[in-house]
Amino acid sequence: MIVFDRELIEKCQTNAPRYTSYPTADRFSLDYSREVHLGRLNSLFSGELVHADDNKSKAVNNNDGLVNNTNEAVSLYIHIPFCNTLCLYCACNKIITNDRTNIATYLTYLEKEIELYTQLINNSKKLKVIQLHFGGGSPSWMTIAEVKQIMQVIGKYFDMSIAQEIAMEIDPRHSNSDYIAGLRENGFNRVSIGLQDFDYKVQKTVNRVQSFECCKNILDAAKAFGFSSTNVDLIYGLPFQNLESFSTTIDKVLELAPARIALFNYAHIPSIFMPQSRIKESDLPSSMVKLDILQMSVEKLGRFGYKFIGMDHFALPDDELAVALDDGSLQRNFQGYSTFADTNMLSFGVSSIGFLGNSYYQNVKDLQSYYAMLDKDLLPIMRGIILSQDDLIRKHIISQIMCQYSLTYADIEQKFKLSFSDYFNVELQMLNDLAELGLVEMVSDRFSVTDKGRFLIRNVAVIFDKYIQLSKNSSKSYSKVI
Ligand code: SF4
Repeated sequence: MIVFDRELIEKCQTNAPRYTSYPTADRFSLDYSREVHLGRLNSLFSGELVHADDNKSKAVNNNDGLVNNTNEAVSLYIHIPFCNTLCLYCACNKIITNDRTNIATYLTYLEKEIELYTQLINNSKKLKVIQLHFGGGSPSWMTIAEVKQIMQVIGKYFDMSIAQEIAMEIDPRHSNSDYIAGLRENGFNRVSIGLQDFDYKVQKTVNRVQSFECCKNILDAAKAFGFSSTNVDLIYGLPFQNLESFSTTIDKVLELAPARIALFNYAHIPSIFMPQSRIKESDLPSSMVKLDILQMSVEKLGRFGYKFIGMDHFALPDDELAVALDDGSLQRNFQGYSTFADTNMLSFGVSSIGFLGNSYYQNVKDLQSYYAMLDKDLLPIMRGIILSQDDLIRKHIISQIMCQYSLTYADIEQKFKLSFSDYFNVELQMLNDLAELGLVEMVSDRFSVTDKGRFLIRNVAVIFDKYIQLSKNSSKSYSKVI
């Protein structure tokens, strides 16, 4: 049930991470070296060991978060950083270029990185892949011939026979139904389209003009070619948006009826994201108007039958995400809500982030360093973190809160061999404060997030973030929760 308690939202406005990982990427350390990473790769895969931080594993923990389980499949993330135009609101890691030869060069280095991994893993069997995601930048700026090329590379080094989800983020300005057909021929079954807003004045101001018709063609083609799920991304809080104009956008999105909708809050931080300085603050909607827009959108989506998954995600009731929410298997990873988050994730490409056993790692962020390291046959690792036992406990709890909206203390006590009330004495007091506000309900052995608290889920999760709690003001660098 979607409950939008405006008064509560206004009262609880704060900044907090989006928790696509815990610890969050800004806690990754340069001390996580290539050598450490190599050691973990070998422990995980050459010795036929994989991580299991959950009760799905049937194997034996070796006290390092790594367990024997040769059949577990991995997820892959491929980052394609290039875009041919700059959207002024963008906060992604991207490279703006009109030179298509950049893609050809990049693909040769991606192959080199993938080959290097498989050589270093030194496992006679190809690793099985359960999920593959192309993000960017604009992966759809690749031609279908280039998509085929990279898919052949992936197929050469990985076993794709059991892959359940192969997804790409699509920029509708350089895609069409033929492109979608080409993706389908190459095994893709999910697309996510960046729509943001259909209002022309808003589009012009943020330098991203795209018609309703081209988006409709792409979504219609995805449905006709049997894609199992479609997603559209929208952003509220962009310049010149108002209640009426965004209401028209939502009506058009409902006409498209994608399986999933992500409705993101625009975070205007020009000091960090330079292109945003070309957006005039005076053109941005006020926080009251933003809340009006959000409330209208949430109510319209609810009336149309979309289920609220969490934070900014909505899905039709028969979509996998909605099913996972209902059966308690919903998870969260770097791409947001997912049904595959507990697998190891190998990531390739500049700035990409992966998850191995009980560690996160990130590649170097600039293209020059990425190429230079691969030229020397070095993995292009920049930083990472091996999770401590405390990190693992809090990661599990934050994931439970973000995805299951409740926590039973006995489950944590049994899983991590601790006394919840002793270990989380301070956090329980903070939860009591949220209970008084109506965000959570506390009973003796558990707490659950109320329907009206679900829009403020980050307020609840942040209580268990040790890094933020230790440095009281550090949440200011994160985006507003609404
Ligand atoms: S929003 Fe997407 S297409 Fe636009 S600049 Fe950013 S990454 Fe590129």
